[in-house]
Amino acid sequence: MSDLQTTLDLVIRNVRVEEDGDFVDVGVLHGRIAAIKPSLRCEAIETVEGYGAFAFGGFVDSHVHLDKACILDRCTICEGTLAEAVLQVAVAKANFQEYDVYSRAAHVLEKAICHGTTHMRTFVEIDPRAGFRSFEALKRVKSDYAFAVDLEICAFAQEGLTNEPATIEMLDAALSNGADLVGGCPYTDPYPTRHVELIFDLAEKHDVAVDFHLDFDLVADRSNLPAVLAQTLARGWQGRVSIGHVTNISAMEPARVATIAAELAETGIALTVLPSTDLFLNGRQYDWLVPRGVAPAHILAAHGVVTSIATNNVLNPFTPYGDASLIRMANLYANVAQLSRPHELEAVFSMVTTSAARQMGVDHGLKVGADATIVLLDCAGPRAAVREITPVIAGWKLGRKSFENGRRRLLRPAGHT
Ligand SMILES: [Zn+2]
Repeated sequence: MSDLQTTLDLVIRNVRVEEDGDFVDVGVLHGRIAAIKPSLRCEAIETVEGYGAFAFGGFVDSHVHLDKACILDRCTICEGTLAEAVLQVAVAKANFQEYDVYSRAAHVLEKAICHGTTHMRTFVEIDPRAGFRSFEALKRVKSDYAFAVDLEICAFAQEGLTNEPATIEMLDAALSNGADLVGGCPYTDPYPTRHVELIFDLAEKHDVAVDFHLDFDLVADRSNLPAVLAQTLARGWQGRVSIGHVTNISAMEPARVATIAAELAETGIALTVLPSTDLFLNGRQYDWLVPRGVAPAHILAAHGVVTSIATNNVLNPFTPYGDASLIRMANLYANVAQLSRPHELEAVFSMVTTSAARQMGVDHGLKVGADATIVLLDCAGPRAAVREITPVIAGWKLGRKSFENGRRRLLRPAGHT
């Protein structure tokens, strides 16, 4: 006898949805999850054998710059500093063309999809040098890859606003023309507090979330966070504000970190760490015992802050590495932060899945009635995934298979045991 009245579109059998949990079957109908239970009795048009894989809602990359990815061949890295990276990209982006941004962004996004990413927030620089060319390219990328990933576009001022007011009008236009949220970078503006206010003005006008690149250094006693906290409260934007990097928290003593954590938790400001970039650019003034320069997201999370770990840049002067793999980034963070205990690794996994989804306000996770966005990892669960950088097997979006890597297997010679 069948558990369901109707024939399902898809059933994925023998997967785990919890670490080392019992095997269950996931049934899908009309793009939604219709059932999750052991030994599901049903008719289905397609059946997939999961072989004990871990099934989850896919990775959520909360902070990526698709527009300036893969430009190492156009830049020269001498110092490896933040200032050099901003300058190098400012020169390069003046020559970006729409087709060029599209092809580089699509290349990185395809890698991300095959690494199991199902939701992503990309920044796009909009200013007099970049024009709207990158923005137009990313809108097309968003549409063309919607079959596999939900891409959110953040109109971003990388190089200041008070020093270049034309950027304000351009961000305003982008927000009227398809941008999902607005992002600022107070540390490149001669008047950081005013910069924060101007970004919030745009957010309020268009009723969108904001995402700041903030305090990207190791100077513990200089911060633009008070301005962001004040504006978040003044505008009633609790739960709609993200801050990325904030690497100076790594230079603060624990009591101060706890105070900041309490403030962030109370105002609903989410924090994103970008381990690959933070490690590459920070601490260049040190010749030995180089600081790690990565904000302790796990400590903030333990105080109730919504946190995420994200890719940031791929193959450019900010980060001359990258493959858009979030599980690799989770492993990097766990390694740098010296985390090993089961609950710590589970927290790290949540920073590239459920917690990152909360930050972006997207529905995520396997439950009956939810969108059938499902990714299979070749492991028993989140802890193993973070420890081992587990390969991704395949994924579905709204019940349709969107990519397939397959399982690794050895091809032994005949008769070999
Ligand atoms: Zn960034």
